[in-house]
Amino acid sequence: MTFTDDSRRDAISHVGITIAIDGPAGSGKSTISKTLASRLGIGYLDTGAMYRALTWYALDREIDLDDQERVRALADEMPLIMDSDPVSPVFHVGATDVTAAIREPRIALAIPKVSTNLPVRKWMASEQRRRMMEARANGSGMIAEGRDITTVVCPDADVRVLLLADEEERLRRRTLELHGKVTDELLESVRDQVGKRDAADSKVSEFMTPAEGVDVVDSTGLGIDGVVEEILKLIDADLVSRM
Ligand code: C5P
Repeated sequence: MTFTDDSRRDAISHVGITIAIDGPAGSGKSTISKTLASRLGIGYLDTGAMYRALTWYALDREIDLDDQERVRALADEMPLIMDSDPVSPVFHVGATDVTAAIREPRIALAIPKVSTNLPVRKWMASEQRRRMMEARANGSGMIAEGRDITTVVCPDADVRVLLLADEEERLRRRTLELHGKVTDELLESVRDQVGKRDAADSKVSEFMTPAEGVDVVDSTGLGIDGVVEEILKLIDADLVSRM
C-alpha cells in the first residue's frame, strides 16, 4: 500500500502514532523530526529543550547544579510551557520567553550537570512519555527526539529510529548551525564542545548503538529529503501493520 500525505494523515487520525528518534549532536534529529512532524500533522517534542529549560531555570534561580535533589525538585516547580508546533517551537518558563536564551553557550556548558542527574532523568522520562502517549491517545501523535527516547522514554514507540552520521559531517553541521559558517578555527572550537558533551551524555545513555528493534538510519550524504523518505518507509510499514 502506498500512502499520499493526506491518506497517511488520515490513517494516523485513526490509530495514533508515537515516533522516537535518538542520535548524537549534529545527527540532524531536530531538522528531520520537525520536517516529519509537519508532514504528518503531528506534534513535535524537543526533549533537549526540556533539559535546556531546566538548566536555564536553575541558573536563573541561582541554584547549585551539584545539589541533585534540589534541581530535581525544581523540575516540579518549573512552569514550563512548550507548544508542540514543529515550525517555530516557542518555550516559556512562566511569563519569560526562553526560546533564544536556552540556546546560549552558557546553557550548553552547564547542561551536563543537569543531564547526568539521574533523578532529573527519571522526571524527564516520565514527563516526556506522558506527552507522547497523550497525543497518541487523542487520535494524533508525537515525534520526540533526544538521546534515550527509543530506549527509556518510549521503548514501545510505534517507530524507533537511531539517526547516525559521520563524525566530521556532524561537526560541520553543528558549526554551521551555531556560527552560520564553517572555518577550521570554528570547527576546532565546536569539536571540543561537542566532544565534551557527547562524552558526558554517553555516561548516562547509549545513543551510538541501536537497542534491539531500533532501526538505524545513517544520514551521511543522504540530505534531509533522503532521510525523511527513509523514515517515512518505516512509518508506512507501521501504519499498514496496525490498520
Ligand atoms: O538536543 P540538544 O542539543 O538540545 O540537547 C541538549 C542536551 O540535553 C544534550 O547534550 C544532553 O545532555 C541532554 N539531553 C539528554 N537526553 C535527551 C535530550 C537531551 O540528556 N533525551
